[in-house]
Amino acid sequence: MAVTEPAPVVPPAAHEGILRRQALRESAARTYARSLPIVPVRARGMTIEGADGRRYLDCLSGAGTLALGHNHPVVLEAIRKVIDSGAPLHVLDLATPVKDAFTTELFATLPPELADDARIQFCGPAGTDAVEAAFKLVRAATGRSELLAFTGAYHGMTAGALAASGGATDVRVTRLPFPHNYRCPFGTGGERGADLAARWTEYLLDDPKGGVPDPAAMIVEPVQGEGGVNPAPDGWLRRMREITRDRSIALIADEVQTGVGRTGTFWAVEHSGVVPDVMVLSKAIGGSLPLAVIVYRSGLDLWQPGAHAGTFRGNQLAMAAGAATLAYVRENGLAERAGTLGARMLARLQALSADHPSIGDVRGRGLMIGIELVDPEAGPGDVTSENGSAPPPDPALAVAVQQECLRRGLIVELGGRHSAVVRLLPPLTLTDEQATAVVDRLADALSAAERSSPRRAAAGPTR
Ligand code: PMP
Repeated sequence: MAVTEPAPVVPPAAHEGILRRQALRESAARTYARSLPIVPVRARGMTIEGADGRRYLDCLSGAGTLALGHNHPVVLEAIRKVIDSGAPLHVLDLATPVKDAFTTELFATLPPELADDARIQFCGPAGTDAVEAAFKLVRAATGRSELLAFTGAYHGMTAGALAASGGATDVRVTRLPFPHNYRCPFGTGGERGADLAARWTEYLLDDPKGGVPDPAAMIVEPVQGEGGVNPAPDGWLRRMREITRDRSIALIADEVQTGVGRTGTFWAVEHSGVVPDVMVLSKAIGGSLPLAVIVYRSGLDLWQPGAHAGTFRGNQLAMAAGAATLAYVRENGLAERAGTLGARMLARLQALSADHPSIGDVRGRGLMIGIELVDPEAGPGDVTSENGSAPPPDPALAVAVQQECLRRGLIVELGGRHSAVVRLLPPLTLTDEQATAVVDRLADALSAAERSSPRRAAAGPTR
């Protein structure tokens, strides 16, 4: 696909030099920088311009942070207003008019049952810090330490959050099955698979020999993001609410990625009507600047002063940008728009699978979409239902698709258990034309990646 190339803003050699110096000087743990060798210098809405003058449609959106895309005018205006007012930019956790306005705006969006009786804790600026705060809160409130989390979960990189994501730490977490339609651990998929997952949870919690001490909380993503875009079935989430309520276990909804309209409702728990005890919020609530909070039922507010502190809990610019973002999403019905447009994109992507056997599954909710790539030639993989099986995932093809997308001016992310899920997280402001361009470029990239795959080329055309 032809992409208009404006003049480079730095000479090509400088662009190369920046990338080379990054590779030499930055940590081996760097991530996105490896698969996306771009030097962004300007951005507006969904478009990023690289130092080499190339333009990209950004379907990564700062890992789901940029609900309004890059540099939205209302966000810039809110930031400028604070700067021009002479307000302090750093105030620890002191009260300010900016913070007051942010909290009011945020509470106006929460499920009313929670908002009527909520407390908010401003945390260190990352999602993972808010996850740690949530764990500390529920432990202090219940006097218990054990946590429940789900297979395929992602909650962050600090010790507690990492343990809840399946990483090795000494935090005690019991892992429960998250329903997965395409790769159902029970080999059934659908409602039956979700029912069996819920039954296993109940059984384990009630079995005196189940090896699970009374837990303080269950943490769940209403749609697993990094885990490969796995939406929790609404009925299953309601069962989790009943199970936790009946056993006095706090339910923590991690809406770090799903929040602020992303999935088609303002908060993803609204799809099921579930009201959690604690919500963990970050990413989009800061309007592109770092901000993380937990909001929770006042009855849990039993921890001590200083129980969860941190120097950077008072970022005024982030609160102003965040309040402007929340208000804009609410006033302009962007959650509904994400639902409609997301469903349209999902349908188009599902239609593509007729011509691309390497598309194993297309799933998502709103503008949180995943395309799982598989190797159909490799024979049956996981048994997913009584009459079907999913071929093995194809992470090599996913990498090739990501690179082909980049060549066509499209930035996509990979995720999932085997990094074989191409993830789309466009801003909620994307236009119909941009949505069409995203699917067109992706389809084109997939065809090119399939053609260039050595294994597939050797096997000849599949269709
Ligand atoms: N929870 C979820 C659901 C996330 O998607 C992420 C980040 N991808 C986090 C927590 C951690 O957030 P952060 O990277 O800001 O620490």
